[in-house]
Amino acid sequence: GEFGKEVDVLVIGAGPGGYVAAIRAAQLGKKVTIVEKDKLGGVCLNVGCIPSKALISAAHKYELMNDDQGMGITAENVTVDFAKVQEWKQGVVQKLTGGVETLLKGNNVEIIQGEAIFVSEDEVRVNRGYESERLKFNHCIIATGSRPVELKPFPFGGRIISSTEALALKEIPKSMVVIGGGYIGIELGQTFAKFGTDVTILEGENQILPAFEKQVAQLVQKNLKRLNVNVVKNAMAQSAEQDENSVTVTYKVKDKEETITADYLLVTVGRKPNTDELGLDMAGVKMNDRGLIEVDEQCRTSNERIFAIGDVVAGPALAHKASYEGKVAAEVIAGEPSAVDYKVIPAVVFSDPEIATVGLTEAEAKEEGYEVSVGKFPFAANGRALSVNATDGFVKVVANKENGVILGAQVVGMEASNLIAELGLAIEMGATLEDVALTIHAHPTLGEMTMEAAEVALGQPIHMV
Ligand code: FAD
Repeated sequence: GEFGKEVDVLVIGAGPGGYVAAIRAAQLGKKVTIVEKDKLGGVCLNVGCIPSKALISAAHKYELMNDDQGMGITAENVTVDFAKVQEWKQGVVQKLTGGVETLLKGNNVEIIQGEAIFVSEDEVRVNRGYESERLKFNHCIIATGSRPVELKPFPFGGRIISSTEALALKEIPKSMVVIGGGYIGIELGQTFAKFGTDVTILEGENQILPAFEKQVAQLVQKNLKRLNVNVVKNAMAQSAEQDENSVTVTYKVKDKEETITADYLLVTVGRKPNTDELGLDMAGVKMNDRGLIEVDEQCRTSNERIFAIGDVVAGPALAHKASYEGKVAAEVIAGEPSAVDYKVIPAVVFSDPEIATVGLTEAEAKEEGYEVSVGKFPFAANGRALSVNATDGFVKVVANKENGVILGAQVVGMEASNLIAELGLAIEMGATLEDVALTIHAHPTLGEMTMEAAEVALGQPIHMV
């Protein structure tokens, strides 16, 4: 109709930012409406975190079955029914997205299917096929997320794919070229390599995972080598030509031009915020030159009714960061004095071995002017790590030398993703090296390495000389 239906809190996008914001706002007594144009759960649940981790675990299982590792257990005729793998993965996704729907409904959040576009400072039009309706809101939270960056020479389609298509492949490709050795490229490239795909990774920098410290990335590099993944560093991808069955990629290393032909070209060179088709100018919401929405520490945009969270604002494009901001925005709208504090945002790469970091690295801490105490403890000296045959890796703790307060941590190795949680809590609580060293950790566990790394930093390790 001509006049908009009135809603109180309108959330646009039902990814880990939007659905969490909607639930928290509802918990705080707000009447919430959420608009989603595609699927509940957003990128993370449908084509991101969850399906990638499912494929990673399936590939890992397959790899272990084929690899005796000196334990004396062998299996014969191990096969992969990839259609079944995909079916199982999709089942995981469906359980979780179904769960999101149940949670939203259980919190009395109204769910509207459609694409929201701002038509004024307090109104959106929601388009659904040929239908459309107007919604007038008191407050709005923009959580429209991001999509893969498409490079001009490598338009998505056919044999040139993004992470979304890679996760949905029906068969294990014989060969694959990956442009971009960031976390998504590494996670997916390594996974297909484990399934038997012949993988080449083209990385523009002189190190894969360039966002991480060299010593951290090196362990993943070593594993990729073991899997016969061809990692080409300082490689500038130039162009691609495809036919029905294959794609040929031209790239340059220094000034030498090379070509490589594969079943697929997977382009994972970053994500782009979904802000260009939202009508943000109609709403008076300002963006920066990269299309990210500008917000204050309460997630409020230049329009004080409108908030923005997750991949559409600056900071690491991670699901838990989106959810965290979602809670803050909802609380601010409900009148609570919340604000974001980004000191503790863990970042995990679900590579093999896993990488997890939180807070400052040693170099960052020094750059910020700290004198640091550093403790590093190797997996190879931990009883549990040995008994589960995972000896590659380390736990590193960085602290302020003056008072022992923990500033950051980096973990590489099995379960790094879970191990980092303790160190995140330590930083959040302002814990010192001594606090961690004096905490009794069960034996034998990987968690003991956190305690031991703190002891190393204090100069009194038990299991290291
Ligand atoms: P999104 O999840 O992108 O959700 C936005 C939603 O808004 C979408 O559902 C979209 O359809 C909807 N939408 C967009 N425009 C409109 C509109 N106009 N109207 C209505 N609806 C709209 N992060 C991690 O933390 N850990 C991981 O392990 C991890 N793995 C990843 C693996 C892959 C392959 C990829 C691609 C990403 C991964 N991420 C991971 C990143 C994570 O998925 C994102 O950071 C997260 O999904 C961002 O959440 P969001 O709520 O901001 O947006």
